Amino acid sequence: MHDVLTNGSNPTINCLNKGFVKLIDVMPRLVPEDQKTADSAVCQMARVSYGQGTKSVNEDRGLIRYLMRHAHTTPFEGVEFKFHCKMPIFVARQWIRHRTANVNEVSGRYSVLKDDFYFPDKENVREQSTRNKQGGDDIIGSDTAQDFLMYLDRLCVNSYDAYEDYLDDGVSREQARMCLPLNLYTEWYWKIDLHNLFHFLALRCDSHAQMEIRVFAEGMLDLITPIVPWSIEAWDDYHPMRGAMKLTRLEVEALRKGMGESTNDGLLPQIDSSNKRERQEWEEKAKLFGFTAVENG
Ligand SMILES: Cc1cc2nc3c(=O)[nH]c(=O)nc-3n(C[C@H](O)[C@H](O)[C@H](O)COP(=O)(O)OP(=O)(O)OC[C@H]3O[C@@H](n4cnc5c(N)ncnc54)[C@H](O)[C@@H]3O)c2cc1C
Repeated sequence: MHDVLTNGSNPTINCLNKGFVKLIDVMPRLVPEDQKTADSAVCQMARVSYGQGTKSVNEDRGLIRYLMRHAHTTPFEGVEFKFHCKMPIFVARQWIRHRTANVNEVSGRYSVLKDDFYFPDKENVREQSTRNKQGGDDIIGSDTAQDFLMYLDRLCVNSYDAYEDYLDDGVSREQARMCLPLNLYTEWYWKIDLHNLFHFLALRCDSHAQMEIRVFAEGMLDLITPIVPWSIEAWDDYHPMRGAMKLTRLEVEALRKGMGESTNDGLLPQIDSSNKRERQEWEEKAKLFGFTAVENG
């Protein structure tokens, strides 16, 4: 869990060296007195389907869990969150790929950009992963980390000096910013409904997401959990990228076969696929079922 700082009335979570996510607003603003959380808006949306009014608190929890299990997603769009976020530009580039949010970003054409840069901690300069072409992995040796951070520091100082010099020389803000590197911070307002936020959080809280975006996603999750606790609980229990698991047809067949065999010695049959990655994924799942291994073949 991150520490939630309250800045005025807006809960804020600091991320990386200079970034943050701040919760600016939530819809619904009006929650019935006997229902203390915004989960009530999910139920309100759902119940229109059945032409029924608000029910008891316990029934609401059951309804939310039912909706989540059965991918009845639109009621979760009845809750919206508006965040103010400050993140490095390379993080913003990953973040903006989530097209279902409404965004308004600080303009580098209109304003002079601040000299706020992201520098990882020395203990968090990562080696290129050999298992995952897209990822960093273990922490790199201290000498290389030190060298990298010193270089980055020099680069940022020089870049920002050049940026300011060219602004002084009359170069337009929209072009002078080309001097600045990707670890410069940017800021935006980001508004999204709960259904689409769940999609973002599933992808970006996951261990496959880059650490530098993951901390923002985890911060958002911490901010919204007290506001929609039952929705979060249901998402955690049922989403395949959280506590749950999705099986393919081939995996169901292998599982059924393995459980039907009396002398399998803890081995599960391999799935009927020649795809190496798919077979590896099945092996990972089989272990979660308590099987020691998957048969070769
Ligand atoms: C670990 C990781 C690695 C990644 N690596 C790369 C990479 O190497 N290169 C790269 O380019 N991207 C990469 N991405 C970005 C990824 O491909 C998606 O663009 C990003 O995660 C947004 O997902 P989305 O489109 O499902 O989400 P959103 O844009 O939030 O959309 C949510 C859902 O709405 C629907 N939707 C939204 N817009 C449309 C539309 N126009 N048409 C149809 N359906 C729509 C889809 O069902 C979609 O899943 C990576 C993402 C992750 C998490």
